[in-house]
Amino acid sequence: MANLSLTKVPMPEQKPEERITNFDEVALGYTVEQAKEEATRCLNCKNHPCVSGCPVNVRIPEFIAKVAAGEFEEAYKIIASTNCLPAVCGRVCTQESQCESKCVRGAKGESVGIGRLERFVADYHMANAAEAPVVPEKNGHRVAVVGSGPSGLTCAGDLARLGYSVTVFEAFHKAGGVLVYGIPEFRLPKAIVQKEVDNLEALGVEMRTNFVIGKTLTVDELFAEGYEAIFIGSGAGLPSFMGIEGESLIGVYSANEYLTRVNLMKAYSKEYDTPIRQSKAVAVVGGGNVAMDSARTAKRLGAEKVYIVYRRSEEEMPARAEEVHHAKEEGIEFMCLNNPTRILGTEGGEVRAIEVLSMELGEPDASGRRKPIAISGSEHEIEVDTVIMAIGTSPNPLIRSTTEGLDATSRGCLIADETMATTRPGVYAGGDAVTGAATVILAMGAGKKAAVSIDKYIKEKNEG
Ligand SMILES: Cc1cc2nc3c(=O)[nH]c(=O)nc-3n(C[C@H](O)[C@H](O)[C@H](O)COP(=O)(O)OP(=O)(O)OC[C@H]3O[C@@H](n4cnc5c(N)ncnc54)[C@H](O)[C@@H]3O)c2cc1C
Repeated sequence: MANLSLTKVPMPEQKPEERITNFDEVALGYTVEQAKEEATRCLNCKNHPCVSGCPVNVRIPEFIAKVAAGEFEEAYKIIASTNCLPAVCGRVCTQESQCESKCVRGAKGESVGIGRLERFVADYHMANAAEAPVVPEKNGHRVAVVGSGPSGLTCAGDLARLGYSVTVFEAFHKAGGVLVYGIPEFRLPKAIVQKEVDNLEALGVEMRTNFVIGKTLTVDELFAEGYEAIFIGSGAGLPSFMGIEGESLIGVYSANEYLTRVNLMKAYSKEYDTPIRQSKAVAVVGGGNVAMDSARTAKRLGAEKVYIVYRRSEEEMPARAEEVHHAKEEGIEFMCLNNPTRILGTEGGEVRAIEVLSMELGEPDASGRRKPIAISGSEHEIEVDTVIMAIGTSPNPLIRSTTEGLDATSRGCLIADETMATTRPGVYAGGDAVTGAATVILAMGAGKKAAVSIDKYIKEKNEG
């Protein structure tokens, strides 16, 4: 008999006043009992609308039925057959706009907590599974993957399972892409990402870190070394700035630099001497997940005041509702309908304030969101010693500028067709490098598609 509760089984969490003093994970995960109870809310509908909302087509009702029956390893096998990063997706995937948005339980009450159940199953497997993955027999063909973010890891995993010898080339010293350098420890512990990377290595995927394609070796040199196809999943790591006065003052960071210093270079730990500003008051400019992560990180590093400065209203904010909720609980102050006009400095060249202009909302613009319009004469200052710009990123031009025949859009995104083939034969691309900054699950979906296309390409080339 289905559990007809209109609300999800609540997720245990660290209390806000505790968690702003540490970098430990905020959401603590379901217990066995809580997972089984939530699983019984699934109606196992005939048409499985939730599956169509998942870019990697996880067989959601099937795995949830196994959770309800207490067969957690069986549930894991079902998820892992189409998703090689379930512990990651269960934590940071935008379920509310994907699978959970299609759940029929959402029509009256809350949808089934698909993400929470996926996380439970993945964590249960990591804690309890003893058996090593079966390494597939090698088929004698080599593929290079550039970038170890979710698109690259997914493509590498799928190709390795098909028998390919896959090498992942990563510019940083650690594999994981934004999952390790961008998303903070309190939302996605790095040990979880490392375990997912370890699983791929156990499948035979080779990780070569500190290796910049376009510098250490070019795409052409990879082909010359015997790789028959190349997947580019190099992300969109180039930060944007507003182009306003004061952006070169001491104390202005891009969100990417700030989060990389804290996450990847562990600036929050006393055991590391990575420099980071000891801020008292911080303005984070932007309204997406990156802005929320930066603000919550600044709070944990000890800032007394942290403001989100966003030019539209809260309704238009692109950040996940859960992130906004958590940020508010942690005391982040939201200054919506404010647009920065300049950053003001001290005589010593350090940030002392940010000047903003109040805005009001007009008619919807091309993005469908109501356009912010400046209210003239409304300039005012917010006293801060640090400004973090979280207003977007674009792909780094290095690879396309060192590779013949690789076309890109005017915004610098690589052009790829629906099979993820670029304009250069044998070179495939996906994730943020193609779409611009997007989501983990879309990057994974692209990596999956590319793996299918690369397999077909290599087989046809060798048969013909
Ligand atoms: C702070 C932050 C928070 C986010 N939160 C969420 C969230 O909650 N939910 C969600 O779904 N999405 C979130 N996103 C977006 C999501 O992380 C990205 O869409 C996703 O990681 C893109 O995956 P990718 O594989 O395309 O690239 P990336 O994850 O960017 O990985 C690309 C990798 O390629 C490497 N690389 C780049 N150039 C080269 C080169 N020349 N040679 C070798 N290696 C190279 C980079 O070092 C990097 O490791 C967030 C992003 C950020 C920045």
